[in-house]
Amino acid sequence: MKRKFIIRSAAVLVGAAILAASPMSVAGVMTTISAEAATFDYHAVFDATYYAAAYPDVVAAIGTDAELLYQHYVNSGMLEGRQPSAAFNAQIYMSNYEDLQAIYGNNIAAYVQHYILAGQAEGRVADHLLAGKSLVDFNALTTTTTTTTSTVDLSAWNLVLVNHDNPISTEYAPEVSLCADGEYMHKDVTPIVQQMIADAKAQGINLYLVSGYRSASRQTYLYNRKVKYYKNLGYSQSESERLAATVVNPPGQSEHQTGLCMDITDSSYVSLTEDQENTAGYKWVYEHCAEYGFILRYPKDKEDVTGVIYEPWHFRYVGVEAATEIMSRGITLEEYVAENSL
Ligand SMILES: [Zn+2]
Repeated sequence: MKRKFIIRSAAVLVGAAILAASPMSVAGVMTTISAEAATFDYHAVFDATYYAAAYPDVVAAIGTDAELLYQHYVNSGMLEGRQPSAAFNAQIYMSNYEDLQAIYGNNIAAYVQHYILAGQAEGRVADHLLAGKSLVDFNALTTTTTTTTSTVDLSAWNLVLVNHDNPISTEYAPEVSLCADGEYMHKDVTPIVQQMIADAKAQGINLYLVSGYRSASRQTYLYNRKVKYYKNLGYSQSESERLAATVVNPPGQSEHQTGLCMDITDSSYVSLTEDQENTAGYKWVYEHCAEYGFILRYPKDKEDVTGVIYEPWHFRYVGVEAATEIMSRGITLEEYVAENSL
């Protein structure tokens, strides 16, 4: 797990100054970053060697320790318009894409987050200007873009984000109740799933709830069993742990511990394989899930964003409002949370 650095105050107002070393002018730009955005992991674009070579003034002030340089980039360098690596230049990225300018205006952090969460996987270019494009100054966008503050409450129980970078405490134990097929779900989600299964049945679709809530100890058991499996095949401890984590989430990193997600299949085909997408059950759930507040959590073309393989059986409760937006736009919970953290 990578360390994350948290900007000290909860909401930071940064009036970025022009620096001689900075390739762009951001004078007077006021950028607000929420506490959530400040804990975003920017390691994916950061190259300490590049940063140290590009900014001798920073090295003179704090030295060459890679983590200190990273902290500098996150806490001030980014907002001063400094570049984190040769592969990613925020000003070039912004200049190449008008669609992003329309959304993110002069919020530099938002461009970096977009690139990490989606842009890179979409094949967007961040290291050179595309044909016909010219550098746009972040300042030029300040008058045309008003920053809107998200009204989405990301601390709501139904919007908790759990993944490899955002584990939850193994002490976390939600109140659950028996839902269907011997499986338990979060007590407030159980009746919704039961309604969904009944509605599907009324339309001739038989669903089977393969897996709902999984306790931390159950997850620990499943994970350890998989590590042992690889060790028995002759792999080292660390290699076995790495391989196991690609199949079974380590404790604290599984959404199933929240009771908010379920592996649901057509009752005629209960295997958790990609072929599930061809069943009538999957097609029905995919089409109707948002009406019940569920999303397809790990879509096919978003593996780089979620870090999880395509799972046409794993659906996650986020509430009707978020689910409608996420499903209609074809985005992921990671992207939804990032957008509403800005
Ligand atoms: Zn699952």
